[in-house]
Amino acid sequence: MNQFHQSTTHWANFINGEWVDSKQFIEVENPATGQLVGTIACATQKQVDMAVNAARECHRSRRVAGMDPYQRMQLLHTIAAEIRALAKRGGELLCLENGKPLSQAEWEFEEAARYFEYYAGMADKIEGQSIPLGDGLVDFTEYEPFGVSAQVIPWNFPVSLVARSLAPALAAGNSVVIKSPELTPLAVALLAEAMVNAKVPAGAVNILCGYGHDTGVALVSHSDIDQIVFTGSVATGQSIMKAATTHVVPSVMELGGKSAGIVFADADLDQVISSAEVGNLYNSGQVCSAMARLIVHQSVYEEVKQRLTQCFAAKTVGAGIDEADVTPILTQLQLDKIAAMCSQAKQQGAHCLLGGAPLDRPGYFMPPTIIEADVDADIAQQEVFGPVLVIMSFNTEDEAYAMANSTDFGLVAGVFTKDLSRALRASRALIAGQVFVNEWFAGGISTPFGGVGKSGFGREKGQEALYNYVRTKNIAIRLTP
Ligand code: NAD
Repeated sequence: MNQFHQSTTHWANFINGEWVDSKQFIEVENPATGQLVGTIACATQKQVDMAVNAARECHRSRRVAGMDPYQRMQLLHTIAAEIRALAKRGGELLCLENGKPLSQAEWEFEEAARYFEYYAGMADKIEGQSIPLGDGLVDFTEYEPFGVSAQVIPWNFPVSLVARSLAPALAAGNSVVIKSPELTPLAVALLAEAMVNAKVPAGAVNILCGYGHDTGVALVSHSDIDQIVFTGSVATGQSIMKAATTHVVPSVMELGGKSAGIVFADADLDQVISSAEVGNLYNSGQVCSAMARLIVHQSVYEEVKQRLTQCFAAKTVGAGIDEADVTPILTQLQLDKIAAMCSQAKQQGAHCLLGGAPLDRPGYFMPPTIIEADVDADIAQQEVFGPVLVIMSFNTEDEAYAMANSTDFGLVAGVFTKDLSRALRASRALIAGQVFVNEWFAGGISTPFGGVGKSGFGREKGQEALYNYVRTKNIAIRLTP
């Protein structure tokens, strides 16, 4: 086993361009070993105020909002380069605190850099409209930044998800306060170095860590924020939406999922198996848009079941630093929750084809698990957030759509078929923010992403997401005759 990086480090909060420490701190542990990776200051209510005030002052001074858009574009390109320069160091840190494979942790920094490049290209293209009102009037719209954008981030892809909302917010001229996830905050704290090196104006980007019920609540219920962007669980989203109503603050909600792929009889089964492999096991299933259910036509059900079981059984389970296929679950609590859901499924009559219980070894390891269950079983309805794939069979096309659409969620969905008309019919019938045809996770930074139902609202990624970070102002001018 690779033994590097056993030493511990301490991180502070980043407020108004400076590192600000706190007496209280959070210990961050490596889920593969339980060892301490580092500590981070827990932001107090006063520090939340400082960060929001710094962002407000930055916005008021128009240091970012009033910049020539060409300069803002250059600033985002510089941030991208600085993030890319951190990939090796940051990737190691993220691998240790989050448990994911080192290569994927390094990739998160690359992906984060690409978010900044993508939105750099839009910084000088946020154009309003001219609206004809007759000879006596000139009317036009302008897109203006909201002001102070509060962004609350989950732990599964912390670096990439910070970039997903920070890059368009900055491109549009906002100032931002980020609440990093208390379970994996260290690599996000490192991003502050990129902001310093890129000479981002003081107060434009503030990064706080702390617990959700404490620092998170203080931020989202602050009276001086203009917008909330939240990515995380449904329950937290509901609580944040309530906070947002107090000050009538708009929000974007990127929540959980229980996404299904439908396999028709004519599907290329190689594509199905490789898509299930990546769709369900990537990041050990700790992905909002994971393939959680596979709904398979009865004519190919036995073959899919047998090939899937063989494929999942061959996966290595181990530490991210060793590039295992399936890396640890983030916490003991989450591992226990997954185990309890699998046991309950078995008690309710589901059939476990593979895995189903945590591995008896140090660290929080759950092996790839495949469960045959009824469409309305709890395991087929609730988000597990682990390497657990639920499979079931269908007979008619309508039955498949009804099964896929049977949960409260609607984040992504997938269809496997060689029939283009059916693929399109299915894409329209499925209740989801995005549909993958013949490949799970098809798409990327440029394709809009977001949910339906309890998976949330608003779209991140793509050109569309930029418009989450601006509001329209209409200006009508009466001309003198
Ligand atoms: P979580 O809701 O527990 O926490 C997310 C963030 O919210 C953390 O930073 C946490 O500290 C903060 N928080 C918690 N309570 C808060 C409160 N009352 N007020 C303000 N902030 C609060 O989610 P998690 O366990 O970190 O992430 C897993 C969940 O996130 C899963 O449900 C997953 O599907 C979802 N997710 C969604 C997307 C997406 O794009 N739709 C992406 C990644 C993860």
